[in-house]
Amino acid sequence: MTNLTLPTFADVEAAAARLSGFANRTPVNTSRTLNEIIGAEVFFKCENFQRMGAFKFRGAFNALSKFSPEQRRAGVVAFSSGNHAQGIALSAKLLGMPATIVMPHDAPAAKVAATKGYGATVVHYDRYTEDREAIGRKLAQAQGLTLIPPYDHPDVLAGQGTVAKELFEEVGPLDALFAPLGGGGLLSGTALSTRALAPACQLYGVEPEAGNDGQQSFRSGEIVHIDTPRTIADGAQTPHLGHYTFAIIKRDVDDIVTATDAELVEAMKFFATRMKMIVEPTGCLGLAAALNMKDALKGKRVGIVISGGNIDLEQFCALVSA
Ligand SMILES: *Cc1c(COP(=O)(O)O)cnc(C)c1O
Repeated sequence: MTNLTLPTFADVEAAAARLSGFANRTPVNTSRTLNEIIGAEVFFKCENFQRMGAFKFRGAFNALSKFSPEQRRAGVVAFSSGNHAQGIALSAKLLGMPATIVMPHDAPAAKVAATKGYGATVVHYDRYTEDREAIGRKLAQAQGLTLIPPYDHPDVLAGQGTVAKELFEEVGPLDALFAPLGGGGLLSGTALSTRALAPACQLYGVEPEAGNDGQQSFRSGEIVHIDTPRTIADGAQTPHLGHYTFAIIKRDVDDIVTATDAELVEAMKFFATRMKMIVEPTGCLGLAAALNMKDALKGKRVGIVISGGNIDLEQFCALVSA
């Protein structure tokens, strides 16, 4: 893809205005214990306290807010079994438009129930025999629905950029900032805000080690595709970056680093015991990476985005007690 018109920080500012009064301005939490362990001053931007439990609400709400009256009447379609589904469903409900979510037959019952609870219509498909993108496109065509993808969309990534915008507004410039990386909506939006508000800040994307397609893409300069990785970080199980997201990441991010599942579990335990927060595995990527890089962070001011807190209690207990 050539000649993409990339969103800018002005689009993040416009998204912030649309989100005002709808999204939570999430807290920035700190831990003296962690500051001592790393030897730095660390600020956590806590999107686990965002509406529906993750930053995805921001991009979804921003994208749906820009629909024309005709688009609103017909409604939105998305395919996701995770946080994007709930972000779209809640945003559609708040904006009074119908939402259809395409989910695999075997999606966790709790996630299906949460999505239906926001009033969305759930359409199931068989993830082994059917192509969800084809189903989504067919629905979009037949019913005039607008398809909103989870990350590779200018309005979605501009909405995600409001996370870092709020962080810099609250704590001022930082020396380093860590954000989880799946398809790159969060990281590319974070990059727009970082380059505008703290241009000298070192910006790191963090992926699960088992699925380091973003790191490979960043180093090779081309989008690398991999098989769906096996990792507990289900929010970052994406097989490749997007065209919009990669163009911004390539230009504005300093490096992409990785964390293992075992490191994510250690971070989950730290958040639960020391900071009294339940964080989903994907939300732990930033802390895990900062701990791995602590020698380089001594004496610095460091930001870490906690991207979400949605995890079944049973799975949480199994992971932290293993
Ligand atoms: C979606 C998601 C991510 C990854 O975001 P991308 O925009 O796909 O890079 C990280 N953490 C959580 C909790 C998510 O839901």
